[in-house]
Amino acid sequence: VASLPAPAAPRVFVVANQKGGVGKTTTSVNLAAALALGGLSVLVIDLDPQGNASTALGVEHSPGTPGTYEVLIGGSAIAEHVVPSPEAPGLQVLPASIDLAAAEIELVSVVARENRLLRALRTYLAGHPTDYVFIDCPPSLGLLTLNALVAANEILIPIQCEYYALEGVSQLMRTINLVTGELNQDLRLTTVVLTMFDARTRLAAQVAQEVRTHFAAETLPSVIPRSVRISEAPSYGQTVLTYHPDSAGAVSYLKAAQEIALRGAAPTTQENR
Ligand code: ADP
Ligand code: MG
Repeated sequence: VASLPAPAAPRVFVVANQKGGVGKTTTSVNLAAALALGGLSVLVIDLDPQGNASTALGVEHSPGTPGTYEVLIGGSAIAEHVVPSPEAPGLQVLPASIDLAAAEIELVSVVARENRLLRALRTYLAGHPTDYVFIDCPPSLGLLTLNALVAANEILIPIQCEYYALEGVSQLMRTINLVTGELNQDLRLTTVVLTMFDARTRLAAQVAQEVRTHFAAETLPSVIPRSVRISEAPSYGQTVLTYHPDSAGAVSYLKAAQEIALRGAAPTTQENR
């Protein structure tokens, strides 16, 4: 894998879409691993109680494993609970176990409840030079996702190339606009990734075109194909990059990571919308 340029400052991505099953986790882990394989230092924060990102990156997340819950609710430092992923050198993971499910409710009564992740991440980044952070969100717009939107500076939205793809996105955009207005002025939608693209269907091509029209500057040139290798990899505790490095799915994520690294935090067209 060719080495990738490091950004001037850490780029913190929230990978969000309140729809489940659109490829948030798959995109988080594969982009993170691809950037790490490119020689960069990367942190993945698993913010979903399902712990799918932890699984795919081959790290322990059985009930009781300390991770995101302890950081958000217990006030632990991220550095105390990150573990290296065997998927790539330079790739760290803050795991999530099912214990995190309680955090959505427990956060309601916590002081500065929407800033918990931001504070913990600032402390971590000050002591641990990191190029990229990916925060993998649960499929809801609750306090966990809100913490991610406050802690991040870039939003990455994976969009599945199917009917109604853009419908959920407008709800997400309203939330993002609220957050940028009230809680995080630095947050920008910089990246849209088209996932599960099936080149055989005309619908996929139509949806892709529609998304490119709507998010002209943000949508990456490359698309992630629908691929059995991509969906099989997590059951081996792997990303597709180590599971089948030569597959079309692996190549597409490497290319997408390269595009993200090379174009930097691109200007957005959000202002014009
Ligand atoms: P989310 O995190 O948004 O819920 P996931 O990343 O878990 O979505 O993806 C949902 C399902 O689709 C998973 O079973 C995953 O393995 C599968 N999947 C994701 N991307 C692809 C792809 N490009 N090709 C085939 N299956 C995929
Ligand atoms: Mg997920």
